[in-house]
Amino acid sequence: MRQTARNVLTVGAVFGVVAAAANWETIDAELEKRFNTNAETESTTTSTTTLQAAGSLTGSVVVLDPGHHPNNASHPGPDGIGAQVSDGRGGMKDCNKTGTASEDGYSEGQFNLDVAAKLTTALTNLGATVISTADGNPNDYGPCLTGPNSRAEIISRNHPAAAVSIHADGAKHPDGSIDTEASGFHIIVSGYNESAPSRALAQKLNTNLLAIGGVQCSDYIPLEDPASCLDIRDDLAVPNTIDAAIPLVTLESGNMKNPSEAARLADPAFQQQWAEAIAGAIEAQLTQG
Ligand SMILES: [Zn+2]
Repeated sequence: MRQTARNVLTVGAVFGVVAAAANWETIDAELEKRFNTNAETESTTTSTTTLQAAGSLTGSVVVLDPGHHPNNASHPGPDGIGAQVSDGRGGMKDCNKTGTASEDGYSEGQFNLDVAAKLTTALTNLGATVISTADGNPNDYGPCLTGPNSRAEIISRNHPAAAVSIHADGAKHPDGSIDTEASGFHIIVSGYNESAPSRALAQKLNTNLLAIGGVQCSDYIPLEDPASCLDIRDDLAVPNTIDAAIPLVTLESGNMKNPSEAARLADPAFQQQWAEAIAGAIEAQLTQG
């Protein structure tokens, strides 16, 4: 807190705070009073997922992008999710993938929708206008990653203040076999389309998710920074395609092939915690930059 007050002092001095001849304790106390709101905000975002006031996100647009679709597996091939679309860096890739599933049949597509629904409620309660790439889809699968009415196009069209692609993973060993013991979440940002706002949102999200307790960074992914759970990838078409000024992160929420982790991911109470932590990170991003 002292460090916070001294950082603010620099700003305060510019605006005429009389600092001469006072000792640091006096200055700290004075600045605590003058900038109490600021100090409390910083404290909140670094130590807790507690959401702030209703209405804090009024006027802000947030796009949620729940990955895959529970029906994707019913639409294979070039007329379905196998249609080729731009990968955002000069090549082509499949329109969408089926996603993974737990061994007892809970699909990643459904998990992504379940978290997105809870997150929509949390963000709406804060005043945000929430748009989902799963809404208004004329098909019962997809949508595609890029192209007309795609995930990327919906994000670009709405140019939100923040966007989150929600996923869960199916971990594999290097030989391609399923890894039922790997665990943890990670947050992906594009290395092809570098975005400082996306990195900032990733950091806030990382802080809030770890604050839940009982979760940790993925132990099966070569993370750029193991402390930040950050994974830099060049092959994700959506972040490669959109304006880098839009804070966009892709969250891999855990390993659905790990039975104990899959059970937690399927728990509505955990999903609620997960959604509120994401909402808190978005709120911090939008209210503090
Ligand atoms: Zn996925």
